[in-house]
Amino acid sequence: MQKTFDFLVLGSGAAGLSYALQASEYGTVAVITKKQKAESNTNYAQGGIAAVMDQFDSFEKHIEDTLIAGAGLCKKSAVEVIVKEGPIAVKKLMEFGARFTQHEKNLHLGKEGGHSHNRIVHAADMTGKEIERVLVNALSKKKNITIYEHHYALELITQHHLGKRVTRYDNDTQCYGAYVLNTKTKSVETFLAKVTLLATGGAGQVYRHTTNPEIATGDGIAMAYRAKARVANMEFIQFHPTSLFHPDANSFLISEAVRGHGGLLRNRKGELFMKKYDSRMELAPRDIVARAIDDQLKKSGDDFVYLDVTHIPASEIKAHFPNIYKTCLQYGIDITVDMIPVVPAAHYTCGGVVTDLSGKTSIHALFACGEVASTGVHGANRLASNSLLEAIVFADRAAKRAIELAGNLSNREDVPDWDDSGTHDTKEWIEISHNKRELQQVMSDYVGIVRSDLRLERAFRRTHLLYDEVESYYQRNKVSVPLCQLRNMISVAYMIIRCAQQRKESRGLHYSTDYQKLSSVQLHDTII
Ligand SMILES: Cc1cc2nc3c(=O)[nH]c(=O)nc-3n(C[C@H](O)[C@H](O)[C@H](O)COP(=O)(O)OP(=O)(O)OC[C@H]3O[C@@H](n4cnc5c(N)ncnc54)[C@H](O)[C@@H]3O)c2cc1C
Repeated sequence: MQKTFDFLVLGSGAAGLSYALQASEYGTVAVITKKQKAESNTNYAQGGIAAVMDQFDSFEKHIEDTLIAGAGLCKKSAVEVIVKEGPIAVKKLMEFGARFTQHEKNLHLGKEGGHSHNRIVHAADMTGKEIERVLVNALSKKKNITIYEHHYALELITQHHLGKRVTRYDNDTQCYGAYVLNTKTKSVETFLAKVTLLATGGAGQVYRHTTNPEIATGDGIAMAYRAKARVANMEFIQFHPTSLFHPDANSFLISEAVRGHGGLLRNRKGELFMKKYDSRMELAPRDIVARAIDDQLKKSGDDFVYLDVTHIPASEIKAHFPNIYKTCLQYGIDITVDMIPVVPAAHYTCGGVVTDLSGKTSIHALFACGEVASTGVHGANRLASNSLLEAIVFADRAAKRAIELAGNLSNREDVPDWDDSGTHDTKEWIEISHNKRELQQVMSDYVGIVRSDLRLERAFRRTHLLYDEVESYYQRNKVSVPLCQLRNMISVAYMIIRCAQQRKESRGLHYSTDYQKLSSVQLHDTII
């Protein structure tokens, strides 16, 4: 079955929704999303959105903070774009009805690690939910937009599907839309569009512990890679040092504020260990704390360390951290008397599909924005709360450029339907669930916070085996979401490992015990 639109949007987080709203002023828009429309990383963002919103702050300071965090790899022009267009983006969200936390009739601006000024616009500690709410609400009023929930994008359509051999070196590859699995009817539909946007978010699920929801399986990065787009800097995965370790808790974030309030890190023997790693102890920056915990876990073979707040009066804990107290209690941990088992968790994918300053990828008529993209903003490490900002600013730029482009393009009429002849409905799921667990374990053990050449080589060999098994399974069976997600996660794992192997230095979020010093030789992106 074929459906034809002017604009196709894959993903319904902050990036996809903001773009769709704008594009719909000029043509028909289809938004494809694999679960319910609000299910996205955006919905879970807590802290806020960074923007220069008062006269005491300046664009120069925000730019400088971002460049420092990025450890020499940010593209300055991209940083300037998000910083200078940030205040307009925030105002636009407010026009849509976003209710951000106020202080004496002004926006309350929070401060986070790495920012030299208070500039975090937030809606209490549920900023993402508020942004998603207003965007979904605005979208529901647009007649030109159709949202397809429970639709899973499988592949981007290019000349490859018209029988031509497409390589990474061609410069005339064009995207005509995507093949999409309707997960209710289990049929594959052809969505044709003049312009396609990838806004499928990040890939935290590649790791055993992640703060990301289940949707974050790197589908967009893998689809773009298969379509021969340029992908870069995949080695830079940001880990949050403390997420709750519990089989049912889905890596619930335990905010840094808990350490700021006197929380202490102990190993399973009960020993305090941060002193060995940094004189600032529990208050050291995020990546140092994550590395220290990782080192303790690697040396002991334990699965978690403890965050201890039992020495703080119970009334104080309940007043300052009501959500953390309540959530931990649901899992049987009363943090006023029990230590909290914690583990670092994959949090943000800094690299992704390479774009220019208008969100255009290396494939004609294919745009990317949000966490799926590598715009040059984050470099080797993301500054807190810059990601929602990047998603919204670049969505706006991409929409403007896509609208211009769509005016000169027409839809293809010769795209064949999805061909799954010779495949069967699978009778066994164990291969998928086993291989997924194995992949996540390999990535966490060997390609996590601290890497080495030997660990990366081991990870490569093991993921290669998984790749062979899953490809053969994919050739024989009908497509399903678990199978395709696993296939994409393996591709993303491959890209992370290959980029990490290219980087012969420790920089930003990539830390290798074999190359502990920064080297100016590698002040460039790792391209795959
Ligand atoms: C716990 C947590 C806290 C965070 N806190 C902050 C914060 O305070 N500030 C900040 O700036 N950032 C924060 N981030 C990061 C930020 O939320 C994300 O980077 C940002 O929301 C990404 O937006 P996006 O639109 O690119 O992707 P997402 O919001 O992840 O949306 C991706 C969309 O694509 C869909 N999708 C994916 N694959 C497919 C497919 N194959 N077919 C169809 N649909 C698909 C998904 O269902 C989803 O709708 C946080 C992230 C997490 C997880």
